[in-house]
Amino acid sequence: MEDTYLNSEVVIVGSGPAGLTCSIYAARSGLAPVLLIGNVPGGQLITTDVIENYPGFKSISGCDLMMNMLSQAEELGTQFIYQSLEQIEQTDDNLFILSLSSGERITTKAVVIATGATHRRLGVPGESEFSNKGVSWCATCDGPMYREKRVAVVGGGNTAVMEAMFLSNFAEQVYLIHRRDSLRAEKYLQNKLLSNNRIEFLWNSEIVRISGDKVMDSVLLRNIVKDSESPLKLDGLFIAIGTTPSSGFCRDLIETDDDGYIMAIDTKTSCTGIFAAGDIVSGSLKQAIFAAGQGALVARYVEEYLGAR
Ligand SMILES: Cc1cc2nc3c(=O)[nH]c(=O)nc-3n(C[C@H](O)[C@H](O)[C@H](O)COP(=O)(O)OP(=O)(O)OC[C@H]3O[C@@H](n4cnc5c(N)ncnc54)[C@H](O)[C@@H]3O)c2cc1C
Repeated sequence: MEDTYLNSEVVIVGSGPAGLTCSIYAARSGLAPVLLIGNVPGGQLITTDVIENYPGFKSISGCDLMMNMLSQAEELGTQFIYQSLEQIEQTDDNLFILSLSSGERITTKAVVIATGATHRRLGVPGESEFSNKGVSWCATCDGPMYREKRVAVVGGGNTAVMEAMFLSNFAEQVYLIHRRDSLRAEKYLQNKLLSNNRIEFLWNSEIVRISGDKVMDSVLLRNIVKDSESPLKLDGLFIAIGTTPSSGFCRDLIETDDDGYIMAIDTKTSCTGIFAAGDIVSGSLKQAIFAAGQGALVARYVEEYLGAR
């Protein structure tokens, strides 16, 4: 392990909308923020073709939106470090020592965790090929593109149920594909879903393959009970089988929920001096504008915290 090579007032971890917005606000407040970029500069949106719900842009590619945020943050004075955070330790005098993937260390008075989450994948042929070409992980983002089309949601939890109900506002037909013969979702959500005549359940079913030409046009389903396979024609497939939070490096230090999402009230975590914003926060809306909004809010609380130290 190398010696500490940098002292900072605040280190922001993650370069998605939450981390970058925080760094823009923190830089404008004169806090000289350091930002750990992580493995994916720009976060989840960087590979998204079209975003149509970020205010101010009727339509913008995820790459353009995030490159704008990255250059704005850097031009305002944010110091970018192209490393990931591996561990946080707290000292007796309330400083934090951050160990980076390079082995180097940073000492800081405040940390903002904005490391987001990754969507779980089915791991079937065609999933990567047709990602953003019919295959989506976000009905709120892409659902309106499927007006009067045939779509399916995979999953059995609350998110899958809510995605199916949202899609039924646009699509002609919505299938809910689930490996079991009952849902895990809360009962009141299930009742709403069962009374929705645009939604058809495909129980005991899993996707074997996603097919198409330039865009997806069908999936191959396997009925687990009957051990039989059948094709299903679809214009869109929404995968809602859960997300994995990027919080492994801090779970010993701060409180998380059962799934590993950080518990935070007004962006403040259970450890004074560590803040969290965006998708990594338990109960977050998992939308870019929400993450950016929390990024702005957290910068204000960090400024208050540093001022009071
Ligand atoms: C395919 C897809 C399409 C979407 N479309 C839309 C849309 O149209 N509209 C919309 O509002 N939302 C959309 N979303 C949701 C949106 O992307 C997220 O809500 C948003 O990106 C969350 O921002 P964030 O900053 O919290 O986290 P993220 O964007 O997940 O960014 C997290 C950052 O943290 C970094 N990181 C992770 N671990 C570490 C570590 N240990 N050390 C350092 N850095 C780390 C990552 O590299 C990344 O840069 C979409 C999501 C996906 C997956």
